[in-house]
Amino acid sequence: MSTAAIIVAAGRGRRAGEGMAKQWREVAGRTSVAWCLARFGAQRDIAPIVLVLNADDMPLAPGYRADPRILVVEGGESRSDSVRLGLLALGDSPPDKVLIHDVARPCVSEAVIRAVITALDSAEAAAPALPLSDALWRGGETVEATLDRTGLYRAQTPQGFRYAAILRAHLGYVGKAAADDVEIACASEMSVAIVAGDEDNLKITMPGDFDRAERILRGHMDIRTGNGFDVHAFEAGDHVTLCGVKIPHDRSLKGHSDADVAMHALSDAIYGALGLGDIGQWFPPADAQWKDAASEVFLAHAIGLARERGYHLTHADCTIICEYPKIGPHAPAMKSRLAGILTVSPDLISVKATTSERLGFTGRGEGIAALATATLVKA
Ligand code: MG
Repeated sequence: MSTAAIIVAAGRGRRAGEGMAKQWREVAGRTSVAWCLARFGAQRDIAPIVLVLNADDMPLAPGYRADPRILVVEGGESRSDSVRLGLLALGDSPPDKVLIHDVARPCVSEAVIRAVITALDSAEAAAPALPLSDALWRGGETVEATLDRTGLYRAQTPQGFRYAAILRAHLGYVGKAAADDVEIACASEMSVAIVAGDEDNLKITMPGDFDRAERILRGHMDIRTGNGFDVHAFEAGDHVTLCGVKIPHDRSLKGHSDADVAMHALSDAIYGALGLGDIGQWFPPADAQWKDAASEVFLAHAIGLARERGYHLTHADCTIICEYPKIGPHAPAMKSRLAGILTVSPDLISVKATTSERLGFTGRGEGIAALATATLVKA
């Protein structure tokens, strides 16, 4: 079953302090908007991700518009108006399931997201919550009454629904206030399964919540950097392939695969960050099936291993060392080719070149060397 997500980020969040709306304030190096997009984006089966923004915030999201997986939608007056507009934006190709998440919860974990998606296999609605453990009082200056907490839960997001059912519920609820989408689902008599929430999935509401979210996000971050280096010699031929781009040249690179020295260095950098060996180990040169293989197979494999382990690429930098061919004119195409294989924004990729001042084997034009660095983050 297909799953889409809606990140509700159209609110103004005044209680969290002065200045920008809370979703645009940085916490652990990224805005809440960026954290939420990364958390849901890391789940490869979720697409599209609808980002519902306040009309005033549209200029803050140019990069998100360029991402084919993200659909930027203008929100409405109230939270439920914004969710309804997000749901309607999915109408052209309706998903089976939709997860609706408040941008104020940037610490949402993969476990919570997966639990909601899985519960929707058998339930028409499912949402994370935590049973209340503190005693409950009603009062002001003094306690007026003690309350029974049995059966009470603290609600969290993402709240998940079968798309057609929640769309119907929202369309029947226009103009009325609701604390969340479960309230709207219950109003149309949907049954909502409760899945385990997470204490760390806090909602940033008051100024002090930023510090707590920062501690949670930083505490969970696993940042790894890997490097890769490769060399291929020239042989007779009429082109070289570098970063997946075919460049006419009076020689070709010699190798078992397409000899894309730059893509090999970058693949090894990713394997290196993961501590998972190198290309030669995963694709033995003695194995005839990799003869003349397109090197994107290696790079796609490396990034696939990273994603399986919960890492996402935050940056890759590749340096090609040669006198000829000239790399500069092809660098933009190389960046976008690598970004396409890695399925990340080209902004995260750098491709540059240097000569070795005519010294050594690259200087003598005997071959091309490449080195690469990749940064992976699990958060
Ligand atoms: Mg190689």
